[in-house]
Amino acid sequence: MTFMNVSIENEFVGSLPADPIQENYLRQVRGACYSFVEPSRAGKPQLLAYSSELAKSLGFSKTDCESSNFLDVFAGNSLLEGMKPFAMCYGGHQFGNWAGQLGDGRAITLGELIDKEGNRQALQLKGAGKTPYSRSADGLAVLRSSLREYVCSEAMHYLGVPTTRALTLVATGDAVIRDILYDGHPAPEPGAIVCRVSPSFVRFGNFEICVAQRDVKLLKQLTDYTISSDFSALEKLEEPQKYIAWFEEVLNRTIEMIVHWMRVGFVHGVMNTDNMSILGLTIDYGPYGWLEDYDPDWTPNTTDAATRRYRYGQQPWVAQWNLLQLANAIVPLIGETKPLEDALNRFPATYQERWEKTVRDKLGLTELGSKETPLINELESVLKLTETDMTLFFRELANLDILATISSEDPTHEIEPVFYEPASISAKQREQLNLWLRNYATLVKHQNQNRDDRVKRMNSTNPLYVPRNYLAQLAIDEIEKGNLQYLDEWMSVLKHPYTEQRGKEDFAAKRPEWARTRVGCSMLSCSS
Ligand code: AMP
Ligand code: MG
Repeated sequence: MTFMNVSIENEFVGSLPADPIQENYLRQVRGACYSFVEPSRAGKPQLLAYSSELAKSLGFSKTDCESSNFLDVFAGNSLLEGMKPFAMCYGGHQFGNWAGQLGDGRAITLGELIDKEGNRQALQLKGAGKTPYSRSADGLAVLRSSLREYVCSEAMHYLGVPTTRALTLVATGDAVIRDILYDGHPAPEPGAIVCRVSPSFVRFGNFEICVAQRDVKLLKQLTDYTISSDFSALEKLEEPQKYIAWFEEVLNRTIEMIVHWMRVGFVHGVMNTDNMSILGLTIDYGPYGWLEDYDPDWTPNTTDAATRRYRYGQQPWVAQWNLLQLANAIVPLIGETKPLEDALNRFPATYQERWEKTVRDKLGLTELGSKETPLINELESVLKLTETDMTLFFRELANLDILATISSEDPTHEIEPVFYEPASISAKQREQLNLWLRNYATLVKHQNQNRDDRVKRMNSTNPLYVPRNYLAQLAIDEIEKGNLQYLDEWMSVLKHPYTEQRGKEDFAAKRPEWARTRVGCSMLSCSS
């Protein structure tokens, strides 16, 4: 089979030790970073969507993408020349507890290619069948969860959030049995596979499993490989300085990623250490969600409902905790804990500084001094006064007429569409909102900046179109009926999330009442 301009590489496989067993059965793997495994066959595959720009950057032409060969490869039914598919071995802390070996239970990396910019990109199928790491599960994914991963990873990319990408969404034509509410009512659902794309799929858990197995040799091999492949600027440093600098870099990238999540209102939902990318990319879109009404205590994951460990407002601190687990795993490479502790101790201040700058941009302010601090500190309580749509709030703030707001009796009225139940706002709440809005406008006036500059800065920090939970459900409903057009239209809107697009108002609309309690819109379960 020939694809023009595409040549497969296997740097990961070529550089790191493989599990010597080639048969596909469940096992504990030792002394290896991965196991070779072939994808399972899809019965009647159909290409539901693909990311044309990503495909192009990977060297696939439009003709390639529309060929049956392309479909076969991304359905797991055939391999391109040179592909040596494998599943990775990793462990992880799940919900705060060490879970032992996890591994790619339903992900199979096909190989790597060099993109148009000269960067290595691995192609990975998710939902293409069992691997040695599937534990008690089936290695498959259902259409609703694959569509959600496809949409959100591409949307995040266009929002400017570090993320893995999605190349294809393929329906397998096979049924997958799932108990959607975990209440003893399993039912067949359509299966699907996403092809994810990332320079690396290595997670914190890949390092943790080495140390759990007391295999320092493997730990060093994996770390040296990761540094030379993905952090090459650090490669020349002396040991152990190299490992310390690398940890600091991972920490900084993780902070950067979390700041972006908080900026756009993304809640990952299952921030276990096996779901933390070593590159600081958002990875493993499962029971994630988007803040609709601003509620820092919200978690979209039903499995997380009891303790809310992965709620929106907690994400920075969970990231820090996860970094602590990574630090613990790499201590043997450094021989002391102090440099890692020092780096971890800098997390809160570094995060806070990055976050304050982001809030400043979200509010369109030019300065961050003693006048601005109280306004910023009050922002969260103002957003929580009544059900307020986070995304629309910041867009409406940009639209405010500053002088009119300062002298208005009731500036809250001007932004009424951002509230879910404006009629229920009490006189006291309205008074607080009005006060904050007037203070905000006064500060903006005082900063004396050009209106257009302020609006531009705000509207390039605050997206208008995010993949709202209920819109994903509408896309799923449509695709299950065989209508691919809704997804297609939505994806093209999500490519320009900061630009108001005429006729596309429905994709920016706040959650309708029917979606408040519908499964899939307000809450999701973990492994689907
Ligand atoms: P998650 O928390 O969804 O990232 O999954 C945790 C672990 O369970 C990972 O090792 C996954 O590969 C594995 N897993 C999740 N769903 C499935 C599935 N349907 N089949 C096999 N393994 C799975
Ligand atoms: Mg995972």
